[in-house]
Amino acid sequence: MPAAAYETQNKPVSVTAAPKRTGDWNLPLSYFAFWTVRLGGWLPRFDRCAGCDAPLGSKPAFYDAHQPGLFCEKCRRSGMKPLRHEARLLAERFAGERLDRIEFEKSMQPIAGELREASLTWIEHNLERRLITRELLEQT
Ligand SMILES: [Zn+2]
Repeated sequence: MPAAAYETQNKPVSVTAAPKRTGDWNLPLSYFAFWTVRLGGWLPRFDRCAGCDAPLGSKPAFYDAHQPGLFCEKCRRSGMKPLRHEARLLAERFAGERLDRIEFEKSMQPIAGELREASLTWIEHNLERRLITRELLEQT
């Protein structure tokens, strides 16, 4: 039901309307980036290491732009960025809930940012090119 999450009774849920409600673009942008990865079929496994298949549990996982997948502490290579358990839990919420049903709390900002960073990295990895809009976002 991926596409259904974007709409209810044929009324599209606007990603751009959310900032007015929450006063923050952080969550909608993270949600949009996550769903782009998911609908692109590029989402890696969130529960196991792509290197050694060990369960990630509640420990941080690591990723970079050079290979798909999340890696455990042992398989982590230098330069990889962390995706904490909280960020992976937020991804599960994104997968199952409409954006306008998710209450944005200021404390969610760092984990939403982490998930957004990972999502944008996976998009770039799969498109094999750098997103120009990402550079613009990083300047704000
Ligand atoms: Zn591993």
